Amino acid sequence: MKILVVEDEHKTGDYLKQGLVEAGFVVDLMRDGRDGLHCALTDSHDVIVLDVMLPGMDGWEVLRAIRAAGREVPVLFLTARDEVDDRVRGLELGADDYLVKPFAFSELLARVRTLLRRGGKAKEAECLRAADLELDLLRRRVNRAGKRIDLTAKEFALLELLLRRQGEVLPRSLIASQVWDMNFDSDTNVIEVAIKRLRVKIDDGFDLKLIRTVRGMGYVLEAAD
Ligand code: CA
Repeated sequence: MKILVVEDEHKTGDYLKQGLVEAGFVVDLMRDGRDGLHCALTDSHDVIVLDVMLPGMDGWEVLRAIRAAGREVPVLFLTARDEVDDRVRGLELGADDYLVKPFAFSELLARVRTLLRRGGKAKEAECLRAADLELDLLRRRVNRAGKRIDLTAKEFALLELLLRRQGEVLPRSLIASQVWDMNFDSDTNVIEVAIKRLRVKIDDGFDLKLIRTVRGMGYVLEAAD
């Protein structure tokens, strides 16, 4: 899960980034409205945390431009002013939620998770993609470069998890609990075996290897080198 934070106050920005990274998210931090907008339009995020008062371009303008570009990404506004007008304006422009400063980090994290759940449901009928790999959730089909790949149910669930959280290193314990619904037991090699089989099906014969082992940490699916 990837989050874009646009916040010009250095301390707040650093604090948000650190907290979100510790909570397991991948975080892009931008300190200026224009940079934030550029990042929002050139990269893909699951949630955007957007400060209202920003140099370059304020949060309103950034949000308007994001929506004008057809981006449906959930946006959580940070406002320093507890003004009804600001909230109404933000919600009218297409913000999904707002938080008044100062706020507790736990509150922000709870709001972000709620937005992620909502966004996840809205996307349920779609496909998950990485480079030329496509996983069709409705038809339960996978193909790479247009070629159909047959997967077992477990391999499908494993690939779905890796794709949903692409770019994130997933520890074996997390994979075990999410795909096998079991506690991770270091004696078992069920995950290694499944990853190996999945790799053969997904990556063999392709120059761009999508699934990577991060030694001592887990596995990551990434389309970039
Ligand atoms: Ca600010």
